[in-house]
Amino acid sequence: MKRKTMLIHGGISGDPATGAVSVPIYQVSTYKQDGVGGHKGFEYSRTGNPTRHALEELIKEVEGGHAGFAFGSGMAAITAVVMLFNSGDHIVLTDDVYGGTYRVIAKVLNRFGIEATFVDTSNLEEIEKAIKENTKAVYIETPTNPLLKITDIREAAKIAKRHRLLTIVDNTFSTPYWQNPIELGADIVLHSATKYIGGHSDVVAGLVVVNSEKLAEELHFVQNSTGGVLGPQDSWLLMRGMKTLGIRMEETEVNTKEIVAFLEQHPRVHKVYYPGLSIHPNHEIAKKQARGFGGMVSFDVGSEENADKLLRKVKYFTLAESLGAVESLISVPARMTHASIPKERRAALGITDGLVRISVGLEDVEDLIDDLKQGLEEE
Ligand SMILES: *Cc1c(COP(=O)(O)O)cnc(C)c1O
Repeated sequence: MKRKTMLIHGGISGDPATGAVSVPIYQVSTYKQDGVGGHKGFEYSRTGNPTRHALEELIKEVEGGHAGFAFGSGMAAITAVVMLFNSGDHIVLTDDVYGGTYRVIAKVLNRFGIEATFVDTSNLEEIEKAIKENTKAVYIETPTNPLLKITDIREAAKIAKRHRLLTIVDNTFSTPYWQNPIELGADIVLHSATKYIGGHSDVVAGLVVVNSEKLAEELHFVQNSTGGVLGPQDSWLLMRGMKTLGIRMEETEVNTKEIVAFLEQHPRVHKVYYPGLSIHPNHEIAKKQARGFGGMVSFDVGSEENADKLLRKVKYFTLAESLGAVESLISVPARMTHASIPKERRAALGITDGLVRISVGLEDVEDLIDDLKQGLEEE
């Protein structure tokens, strides 16, 4: 089955009992048993719900893994994955991970004895150097947010395997349509499904796929024990979103390329960050491990004032956190998504006050370019 077909026909499609072509929303918490333990595979919806199960089967197939899991948010998914480890264990992470990931690792899970080192994982030597006696995993986000740095998943996973560590990849930006980390050697892939997978700014959700029965059992134990599960209505919305993921990502790619070409030649734009650009330092790796470059672009307009002026003037780019929706979104990472990262760390990472991040949506690209053009004009 090809990718676009799998997004529509993969997992569990429809309802054999009625012929309904979409999976029903099983808005239910518990299931009748014909005698103790005599159930039809579902006992209680924290443990398992048929609508969530259909979504979990779909993401498993689409990512090419062994089992899928749906959570109430990307952060709930990430937290559950980190709960696979024990107090005293150490994880090596990408230094410019999503702000919320940095926060949960450095300010919440540290209280439970999870140690972490943040390094530039796009430099493989830094991964190797950060590995300690108690290291248990390498956690990669690629492309990163907001500078779109790329880590070579295959090579990072090789290093991890050599040290008997798990490789975990946050695949939110690339989506399973463009990039499949498990095929590249990762053990666990996770998503903020709030973004491209949902795709319509109407669901907060997280998805995880693991590559072995052992990890599947361990993660199901954590999911059922801690309970951060996705509800049936939101599970259904994600399945609906996924049916058009392929076509949305293809169209996003077309729009983004045109916008990047426009930004690149604009005199008021200092620097454009996009992995599809041949001048991007990790362009070759991006091309090798992903089939597309996505719709996230960051660019530097030089100052907080210039950034504010652009944000104020644009009509079609909505000023908002989040990304990956049909609507184009615009944000300033330093004061929004990355505000929870201390200023000195932000400066060290290159997240300047004039850095603007856009998530290219599916509007007509001519309107989007005109919008940016008038926003960048001198007053
Ligand atoms: C948004 C995001 C998250 C967190 O997901 P939520 O659904 O907001 O909890 C994690 N990783 C990345 C890359 C994200 O963009």
